[in-house]
Amino acid sequence: MIPFERTLPYDVVMGDVYVQSCPFCGSENVLLPMKPQELKSVREGKKKLLVFPCCYNRVTVVDSDQDYLLTDQDIRR
Ligand SMILES: [Zn+2]
Repeated sequence: MIPFERTLPYDVVMGDVYVQSCPFCGSENVLLPMKPQELKSVREGKKKLLVFPCCYNRVTVVDSDQDYLLTDQDIRR
């Protein structure tokens, strides 16, 4: 069971990874500097430092599933 506070729902659209809203600044439809292939590599245990282009806050993604990224910190407000 994934801890809800550490999850971030994402969408893949035309090969780009988006979040519906930034958990830090609230920007909508933020394009993440992350490739769909990296969703797979974090699933296989490779960590990914993610810097939000909207506000430059950063999180480390440690896992993913079909719908969510799992980070190493509480990000939900
Ligand atoms: Zn932001």
